[in-house]
Amino acid sequence: MTNIADSVVAIDGFSSCGKSTLAKELAKELGYRFIDSGAMYRACTLYFLDNGIDIGDSSAVLSGLERIHIEFQNIKGHNATLLNGVDVTSEIRSLRVSKQVSEVAALKEVRIQMVNLQHKMGAEKRIVMDGRDIGSVVFPEAQHKFFITADVDVRVQRRFNELITKGKKVTREDIKENLEHRDHLDSTRKESPLTKTDAHILIDNSFLTRAEQLMVALRHIKENNSKR
Ligand code: C5P
Repeated sequence: MTNIADSVVAIDGFSSCGKSTLAKELAKELGYRFIDSGAMYRACTLYFLDNGIDIGDSSAVLSGLERIHIEFQNIKGHNATLLNGVDVTSEIRSLRVSKQVSEVAALKEVRIQMVNLQHKMGAEKRIVMDGRDIGSVVFPEAQHKFFITADVDVRVQRRFNELITKGKKVTREDIKENLEHRDHLDSTRKESPLTKTDAHILIDNSFLTRAEQLMVALRHIKENNSKR
């Protein structure tokens, strides 16, 4: 399965559609590195919120970006996001950050910096990166591209279960409103909007288990590899 040494697997799609789950499992299966590009936009948003940076003020945004250092580290077997050396893995998933992240991710200055970082992290290839613009903009040359989707109510329920398990107080209504809001902003923004290209393989996982979704993706990768 790992016969293409320099492969990049791009996984794009709507909010809470299971992209990260698939990306992590594929990376494990292929022996690749998993990179969560959404976590970068979330960490950046957390920094802006905590430091009162006005996202309408581009010089404040630029100087904020200069003070941000984002990295991923494997801490006790889990993929942690560090913002200026602090583990913010859990905090960046809060509704407070989710409510603001798409506005931040739409800023050109932010995208330039995050895409640079994504290029650096992906320079050695052998990565599975999930996001919104990975197959279209960040790694248009990626060998394997997937576009993941699922019915909105299925996505809401999954996110609800995830947050409740973590002890967060949320309602399905809040989550639905946030998912629809982000999908709308992400798909209609000027800079690198969420799009499915002709090269993306569409997977609707509304009625698929995690194992089935992984099998479908692995089958496509195998077929694709055998054509090369
Ligand atoms: O994937 P996740 O839901 O964590 O992403 C959070 C937000 O970050 C998205 O709603 C989107 O606004 C932004 N994002 C992006 N480009 C990416 C990944 C995420 O604009 N490649």
